[in-house]
Amino acid sequence: MANGIVYLVGSGPGDPGLVTLRAREIIGAADVIVYDRLIPEGALAWARPDAELIYVGKLPDRHTLKQEEINQLLVEKACEGKRVCRLKGGDPFVFGRGGEEALALVEAGLPFEVVPGVTAGIGGSAYAAIPVTHRAVATSVAFVTGHEDPTKDESGTNWAGLATGVDTIVFYMGVGNLPLIAERLIEHGRAPHTPAAVIERATTPSQRVVTGPLNGIASQVEQAGIQAPALIVVGNVVGLRESLQWFDNRPLFGRCVLVTRTREQASALSEALAGLGAVPIELPLIQVQGLEDYGQLDDALGRLAEFDWLVFTSANGVSAVRARLAALGMDVRDLKGPRIAAIGPGTAEPLEQSGIRVDLVPERYIAESLAEALIAQGVAGKRVLIARAEEAREVLPEVLAEAGAEVVVAPCYRTRPATGAQEQIAALLAEGNVDVITFASSSAVKAFVGCLGVEGLGEKLQGIIIACIGPVTAQTAAEFGLRVDVMPEEHTIAGLVEALAEHAGGV
Ligand code: SAH
Repeated sequence: MANGIVYLVGSGPGDPGLVTLRAREIIGAADVIVYDRLIPEGALAWARPDAELIYVGKLPDRHTLKQEEINQLLVEKACEGKRVCRLKGGDPFVFGRGGEEALALVEAGLPFEVVPGVTAGIGGSAYAAIPVTHRAVATSVAFVTGHEDPTKDESGTNWAGLATGVDTIVFYMGVGNLPLIAERLIEHGRAPHTPAAVIERATTPSQRVVTGPLNGIASQVEQAGIQAPALIVVGNVVGLRESLQWFDNRPLFGRCVLVTRTREQASALSEALAGLGAVPIELPLIQVQGLEDYGQLDDALGRLAEFDWLVFTSANGVSAVRARLAALGMDVRDLKGPRIAAIGPGTAEPLEQSGIRVDLVPERYIAESLAEALIAQGVAGKRVLIARAEEAREVLPEVLAEAGAEVVVAPCYRTRPATGAQEQIAALLAEGNVDVITFASSSAVKAFVGCLGVEGLGEKLQGIIIACIGPVTAQTAAEFGLRVDVMPEEHTIAGLVEALAEHAGGV
């Protein structure tokens, strides 16, 4: 049994952000993970690809494995010399049967470690904006199982003590018994109007909270159709939710938002959306590819000093030029000469991060505005190099040429539909799980329509909010018959997210 060990690990109430560092470390190192139903989504993705994953959770009305069998499994795996992570929701020692498992390990003479987790009663209450203790309101809190039949005489619960001796009472596994729990507490002296809350799927994007007086909460919960897993919180602290609510009232709370950017670019948008409570679903529709022939770009880079302006119209263009410079044995020092223009802050940022000062960013982040800004600088007779995608609108070179500039367009990358996108979109729409679709470029719109087909597009997207980063993207969407609901004044990712939040608040 060399080196075999069992870690009894709590993984918190559901939000993956509430998993402790230690838990994550153990999940990532374990040979075997024995896990329950209520673990945070995505937690198993941290496991080693070769780890053995064994589900031992309960199904609605039966145990898949009896507790003794789970104990036995842990002992067996550890005896084989395995590092075993016994992964549970919340905290392993709070209604988690971790104590029983630890005793079995002691009996077998096997080493173990306990990794406490954020228990649902504390984490879930916090996300429902209920502090379980509060100065002058509650000086004590009890965690109680609501699973016991409150009508049976030999109930282990001291109802009289609870009803009158504890300020905040948090019941786990109690929704099914809620009418009886409320009745028992009132019977034993708790005021019928004591505030109560029931918190369903706490700390997740589908959290729901119902509040009401103790003597009315059961019918409210039934009406709302609240299901397990849910917590019941009884006590005056529930009243604080009204002032403290912070999680489930965020502007995009629980909304599923499709992020259609390339994988490399998606994360900034996803993070901003998640910060406002949305559930971002990253679905790259386009992928950036290199070119077979960089002749034009290489030629231009070789004689950069001849140009007055070097113009970037996307962050992809910046990366492509950087890569090309490296391939040619050059670096940013060779960009000396032309002044640098960027279409918007998203393009200027990677330039500045590479130590390249950007001389010009237009007021509005579209090609027309960029052309105007360059013309205002006096481009007549000047040489302008535009580094951009192979396929792009011609407005910028055309307008500059009309104004008397000598324009060279150097394609430096191309975009293509991403593989597998079509099936994924179809599946997501079929599940009816998409609330918002975001487009940050015309090419994304085109790729999206390419996946779904123009026919019956409006119908397929009925009820879904369409958000476009700017007027050009919006126009492309409109040309395909899409109704654009949201378009920010400022054509940036931050602007897009803000406009979405405003839209959600205003309708
Ligand atoms: N060891 C766990 C509790 C396991 S008992 C812990 O410390 O949190 C399972 C019960 O926990 C559920 O019936 C429910 O009452 C509660 N629970 C767990 N996760 C929850 C969640 N995300 N939202 C609401 N209740 C939850």
